[in-house]
Amino acid sequence: MAGYSDMAGACPPTVPNRKSIIVTSFSDLNLSQPILKALAAEGYETPTPIQAQAIPQLLAGKDLLGIAQTGTGKTAAFALPILQKLSEKPERAAKGTCRALILSPTRELASQIAESFKTYGRNLKVSRAVVFGGVSLGKQIEILRGGVDVLVATPGRLVDLIERRALTLSKVEIFVLDEVDQMLDLGFIHAIRKITGMLPTQRQNLFFSATMPKEIAGLAASLLTDPVRVEVAPVATTAERVNQSVIHVDPANKVKLLAELLKDNNMTRTLVFTRTKHGADKVMKHLSNAGFTAAAIHGNKSQNNRERALAGFKAGKILVLVATDIAARGIDVDGVSHVINYDLPHVPESYVHRIGRTARAGAEGSAIAFCTPEDRGLLRDIEKTIRSQVPVVEHALGLKNIQTLAPTFGWNPAGNGGKPGSKPRSGKPGGGGNRNHGNGAPAKSNGSGFQGKPKAKPHRGAATGAGNGSPKRSTGATPGGSWMSDIGKRQA
Ligand code: AMP
Repeated sequence: MAGYSDMAGACPPTVPNRKSIIVTSFSDLNLSQPILKALAAEGYETPTPIQAQAIPQLLAGKDLLGIAQTGTGKTAAFALPILQKLSEKPERAAKGTCRALILSPTRELASQIAESFKTYGRNLKVSRAVVFGGVSLGKQIEILRGGVDVLVATPGRLVDLIERRALTLSKVEIFVLDEVDQMLDLGFIHAIRKITGMLPTQRQNLFFSATMPKEIAGLAASLLTDPVRVEVAPVATTAERVNQSVIHVDPANKVKLLAELLKDNNMTRTLVFTRTKHGADKVMKHLSNAGFTAAAIHGNKSQNNRERALAGFKAGKILVLVATDIAARGIDVDGVSHVINYDLPHVPESYVHRIGRTARAGAEGSAIAFCTPEDRGLLRDIEKTIRSQVPVVEHALGLKNIQTLAPTFGWNPAGNGGKPGSKPRSGKPGGGGNRNHGNGAPAKSNGSGFQGKPKAKPHRGAATGAGNGSPKRSTGATPGGSWMSDIGKRQA
């Protein structure tokens, strides 16, 4: 993986307090040779903004409040300094203890973090282990009894292991809470409080969250001491490289619409989000029957099953992965070309997380949302949260005359129209279906049912980060056409 210079939220990274110095390589960050060697082997050339800002501060022992979504390189931002600090001290973890503890909301993310420690620490003698639920306790107890330098854990299983006296947290030197917003969504607050109550007072704390609503800021304040704040994208700003669009559709047509869209050759690796486990299974079955290679992952699937599906998706053997939010958390698969919000999420921040699964590591990606009439309120909440409009596209299987729906959205993006009940822009043939909230040019029609170039319009006053600000079309879009114009060409 090469340079990161043009990722979302990226501006030339600078070392805080030495702002005139541009960080263009990892060797500027005082990282040790064994770590630099591992990074070179991975093909990392340039630190991401969060890495450039966080690593020097963490090496200096500061606490950190990181506001960053996945895909920004935040794992290396904490893993590299942790590895370096642990390897600098000669002592190893005592029996039944760990020196660095990383809490992650899901099994998948925990595995990926542990995998990153393995990759970056390949030239160091730093031991590590990962523990999560859904697999037998026996082996985990055995590993922990011997002591590990770095322990990556999901909160519930960690508490279980501590209660079984497999380890104590009395020797934790560095404590990381990753993806705190998800952790709270999943109801881990009690486990987190229990765990933090067992940590020694003298420790370094790192706290990462993609969003920072009040209750999370409060938790951060109670855990961190004089933290450095590193924010690589404004709170809840949608990944700017993602090419977003929404199709209004009747619930009865959703599955057909999905199958139609998936015939597009450009949809090379597609992640489909449903609200429920049952929904994920239903969609997956329908796609399989329609001849697509699809798999579903959700909380009711065994760990083995989830890992197999994910491995198949990563390897390109499975083209469509249907997932619920929880199972998809932390999925780090390069090259996800499309994210489809088959059901809109109830929590608007989940939309940000979901679409962040594409356009990772500097690549481009597209996110298409399906919006049924009863979900229009959810779409409005999402647009408020991301502070931009999701461009509407029409499809033969979708709802027509979207402009008549506009008043129900009811927020006033640029203060110049689009009020609830205000008259939508007049529909021109081909272009009139676009919901413009009265503040944009009518979308161009390409005659294929896909209208205009999706371009999220930032709400006036919205922080836009330092990205390029203009979502692009899918790289493989057919000239003058769309991802819908290849319909019929492909069945996986
Ligand atoms: P994360 O946000 O930690 O989940 O990282 C997203 C992806 O970016 C992962 O696949 C990392 O391997 C990759 N990555 C992290 N840092 C860099 C870097 N400096 N250069 C290139 N790729 C990176």
